[in-house]
Amino acid sequence: MLPFDDRDGVIWYDGALVPWRNANLHVLTHGLHYASCIFEGERAYGGEIFKATEHHQRLHKSAEIMGFEIPYSVADIDVAAAEVLKANGISDGYIRPVAWRGSEMMGVSAQKTRIHLAIAAWEWPTYFTPEARLEGIRMTEGKYRRPDPRTAPVHSKAAGLYMICTLSKHEAEQQGFNDALMLDWRGQVAEATGANIFLVQDGKLHTPTPDCFLNGITRQTVIDLARQRGYEVIERAIMPEEFAKTQEVFICGTAVEVTPVREIDQYSFTPGEITLNLMKDYDALVNRTHDMAAQTSTSAA
Ligand code: PMP
Repeated sequence: MLPFDDRDGVIWYDGALVPWRNANLHVLTHGLHYASCIFEGERAYGGEIFKATEHHQRLHKSAEIMGFEIPYSVADIDVAAAEVLKANGISDGYIRPVAWRGSEMMGVSAQKTRIHLAIAAWEWPTYFTPEARLEGIRMTEGKYRRPDPRTAPVHSKAAGLYMICTLSKHEAEQQGFNDALMLDWRGQVAEATGANIFLVQDGKLHTPTPDCFLNGITRQTVIDLARQRGYEVIERAIMPEEFAKTQEVFICGTAVEVTPVREIDQYSFTPGEITLNLMKDYDALVNRTHDMAAQTSTSAA
């Protein structure tokens, strides 16, 4: 695997495309020391970023929650992200915008720091076939819990909130699992370390109310897709004991898309019809976005 700081290509950095290896920052950067940093994770399918504007609106919102303003509009970022994708010749890939406080001040107070924005993109095809993905992943409860909204800016996609995700995921991986299940501060089921979670009970979908973690863009998309199919979707508090009466579980997020779960500690699930249908619908939707874009560019040409 090539390290991420030593690759060919270009990165959009504070308004200009720079050679990949030159997209650097100083070690004395507020975002690095004090986690005044927020980011996005997006996927492109067939050269089109799925729900780009929603991601860039969330980027702005994350910054606002963290008390800073990104010096580029959502529309500017939509254009810049598309430019990065094109300049690197990427069709199926991942896009990572990141914004942070700079080096003008180095202390808890950082009101006068400059706000920086960079956007990188790299190839990341979906390498699992639906059959392979259907086997499902294995999860274990993580040792950290999603914090009370009174103790952290939980609705910001802030770098600092990933500290407990990395620790929980590392521990799960060291025990041979694929990911950790994160409960929240009350002991309710919250999410995975980088994706939201759904349970299927007696033909209905249940998902935790996102009151202390991200209401993912994929989560909202899956809820729409499920309702279009006529499935009932219930957002509510879910306790982990309920896994005993749950037939199917899946996680969803930009990176993992819709991925079935076959095990969470002592509980086992069989990826079933509802999960499979939503995987198919999600695949069709992201590809349809691509086809529509292709049609648009054909008619424009
Ligand atoms: N929760 C966490 C902790 C995440 O990192 C992500 C990925 N951004 C999600 C949920 C899902 O969000 P989305 O569907 O917008 O990618």
